Amino acid sequence: MSEALRFLAEELEKLKAQGLFRLPRVVQGRQRARAVIDGREVVNLSSNNYLGLATHPRLQEAARRAVESHGVGSGAVRTIAGTQDLHQTLEEVLARFKRTEAVLVYQSGFTANAGTVAAILAPGDVVVSDELNHASIIDGCRLSRATIKVYPHADMEGLRQKLEEARRDVREGGRTLVVTDGVFSMDGDIAPLPDVVRIAREFGAITMVDDAHASGVLGDHGRGSVDHWGLHGQVDIQVGTLSKAVGVLGGYVAGSRTLIEYLLQRARPILFSTSHPPAVTAACIEAIHLMEESDELIRRLWENTRLFQAELRARGFDTGRSQTPITPVIVGEETKAMALSDQLFQEGVFAQGIAYPTVPRGKARVRAIVTAEHSQADLEEAVAAFARVGKRLGIIG
Ligand SMILES: *Cc1c(COP(=O)(O)O)cnc(C)c1O
Repeated sequence: MSEALRFLAEELEKLKAQGLFRLPRVVQGRQRARAVIDGREVVNLSSNNYLGLATHPRLQEAARRAVESHGVGSGAVRTIAGTQDLHQTLEEVLARFKRTEAVLVYQSGFTANAGTVAAILAPGDVVVSDELNHASIIDGCRLSRATIKVYPHADMEGLRQKLEEARRDVREGGRTLVVTDGVFSMDGDIAPLPDVVRIAREFGAITMVDDAHASGVLGDHGRGSVDHWGLHGQVDIQVGTLSKAVGVLGGYVAGSRTLIEYLLQRARPILFSTSHPPAVTAACIEAIHLMEESDELIRRLWENTRLFQAELRARGFDTGRSQTPITPVIVGEETKAMALSDQLFQEGVFAQGIAYPTVPRGKARVRAIVTAEHSQADLEEAVAAFARVGKRLGIIG
């Protein structure tokens, strides 16, 4: 290592001293509800594979067929020679699914958020953002060089206040964007979207919702939070991911044809980074078909969620404000949350510990994510392990 990079080693030493240095556990083989992780078979409560589609035979077959028909790479960015017929099909299928005029597929949910916010705002514009919004939204806000105003989490008075400030601060002829996650990734609560939309409209602001954890989870057949709240046609920009419930990889923006045509001219991840390879695109198409055909997996996801959360609460755990399969088990103290996660792993359950700066100090937790693929036995086994370790650590009585 060169002398110039020595500071990195020093930073790592600091993290280690604080107990914050972590290397990822390794999933050996398939990403499933029961998986082999670091050499141990565990009940896996750490993936975002809500519907179990990451290993679904129909998606795997679609991917294999696309390799045969289209090869393994797309060869260019979307706007040069990297728009394949498969991309077009995926966007048509998604637009129908989301009930919007059009869709643009990005390489990830991250690039969809960051690229979209940065493309539609400019210096002098204002973005009003929930304090718990995802990092990719925050990065997009920074890249846009718009003025950023953050309102307290889900606080509608706070939102109104920031919009009033925005009205004063926005440049002549400038725009204001209100952006919120549909489901918040660390607490599993659902944004009060009808209020957000109503207030934003009073101020003539653009509305955007990031449905990474709502796609495939909320709404009829998993159409997302706009459908869940009956707000079709009222949210300007819907972002979704193909990497979580859809089980593959990618992100997208759903909205008006004008919005999509504009982003195709201006969104930098679309202009400067290569598009999805055929296997990924084809597997995503198959996933959406599957979700349209049946809502059985989503129903099972919610049954499992109700079972798991009721059992945890009955044993005295604090699951915070969760309203979705994202289940925080709030511990408070950072070292104790990490100990809970580590000891759960020894007991055959993988649920990630999450501490500052991902969540506020004193709110450290283990985050468990339920999927449709878990059996009742998996969940009961996990709850029993939580209870054993929780007692040992004095988290529950
Ligand atoms: C995971 C996540 C993203 C990023 O999606 P990827 O497809 O994994 O890049 C964006 N927003 C939220 C709220 C997320 O949880």
